[in-house]
Amino acid sequence: MQTPLSTHRAGRHFLQIPGPTNVPDRILRAVDFPTIDHRGPEFAKLGKECLEGMMAIFKMTKGHVFIYPASGTGAWEAAIVNTLSPGDCVLMFETGHFATLWRKMATAFGLVVDFVRGDWRHGVDPAAVESKLKKDRAHEIKAVMCVHNETSTGVASRIGEVRKAMDAAEHPALLMVDTISSLASIDFRHDEWRVDVAVAGSQKGLMLPPGLSFNAASEKALAASKNARLPKTFWSWEEMLGPNKSGFFPYTPATNLLYGLREAIQMLLHDEGLDNVFDRHYRHAEAMRCAVRAWGLEILCLNPAEYSSSLTAILMPEGYDEAEFRKVVLDNFNLSLGAGLAKLAGKVFRIGHLGDLNDLMLCGTLCGVEMGLELFGVPFQKGGVAAAMDFLAGGATGRAASHVQRTAASSPEDGGDEKQRTPTLSSPV
Ligand code: PLP
Repeated sequence: MQTPLSTHRAGRHFLQIPGPTNVPDRILRAVDFPTIDHRGPEFAKLGKECLEGMMAIFKMTKGHVFIYPASGTGAWEAAIVNTLSPGDCVLMFETGHFATLWRKMATAFGLVVDFVRGDWRHGVDPAAVESKLKKDRAHEIKAVMCVHNETSTGVASRIGEVRKAMDAAEHPALLMVDTISSLASIDFRHDEWRVDVAVAGSQKGLMLPPGLSFNAASEKALAASKNARLPKTFWSWEEMLGPNKSGFFPYTPATNLLYGLREAIQMLLHDEGLDNVFDRHYRHAEAMRCAVRAWGLEILCLNPAEYSSSLTAILMPEGYDEAEFRKVVLDNFNLSLGAGLAKLAGKVFRIGHLGDLNDLMLCGTLCGVEMGLELFGVPFQKGGVAAAMDFLAGGATGRAASHVQRTAASSPEDGGDEKQRTPTLSSPV
């Protein structure tokens, strides 16, 4: 059937949702090879390279990385069923939609969740972690479970500070962190922060198509798994450990996605370097925020120390629906923006700036948003794209600022709300 001319869209689609992200041609080419025998010698090499490379991406030297042919939700489940038992208490934080979904899953597994309420504009409060754990003298809380980067809000929690709070409370709970939209975009340090289980997915900072997910388990988590009584078969770490030793999996792995993963590891660790990847993300995020401020719009995240380098969530002015706005942008500019999720539906749109992105892709995205705001009749000031370009042209300034930010994010002493706070409007959501 012939496509009507009016629906033809020339040029490339701009996929600027906060995941799945743009898959670089190099990775697409790497995936496009014949599937091999997953029990043969060639596969063993591939499996080992992926498992070892992922340890480096998580910044871990001990423990084990598990790779599942599944989306991130599967890896959430794997983290729970491998470490916990029915009736265990866990501490979770309502940072947004994904934290709320993970909590729903924990409850469905019969865990008793202490869910610390939040306003979807802040990250996990380390002081709340410390006080909750100090009160738990009997050590009934078995795990503290946080989302590192809340993809629904663009707020990044300070996991290094959460770890310090746990230490200050001298509490033995496991620390589980969802890094689905932070890994390979925002600095994450599995060993240094003594994270016990990190959960990740392929379709965001790793620049792969959806379909792979990960558990990065510490030695303490592996020990806990020996006594965990929640039922599991497909997700069982125990079943994986043996075959993984020689690069194999207990069931048919997603071979072609692993080809892609090997290429992504090469790009992230060796060609660009992880810390340069984090700098690039921070610089683009900062340019994005320059644009939003110039437009006179409001960033959802209220604490600059918790700004996300992966995405920016932006409040629409009262009376302007984000879904209709995104439709205008998609129809006119072939640019996909992220929807407002759950209670943010209608109110907030999100711009993903993670994964395989350069300055021109960012500026193209910003042009689409700025033109869309005008077409949709939103009250705003022009000049966002120009403000972002000014920032990007600073080059070295952007990179220097990035280094400071990454250091601050991992050093709690510097990460104060007040010191870095810039005046913002603050509407309830
Ligand atoms: N956690 C976070 C922070 C996410 O952003 C997502 C998805 O975007 C998920 C969990 C769920 O992952 P998936 O949709 O791959 O199952």
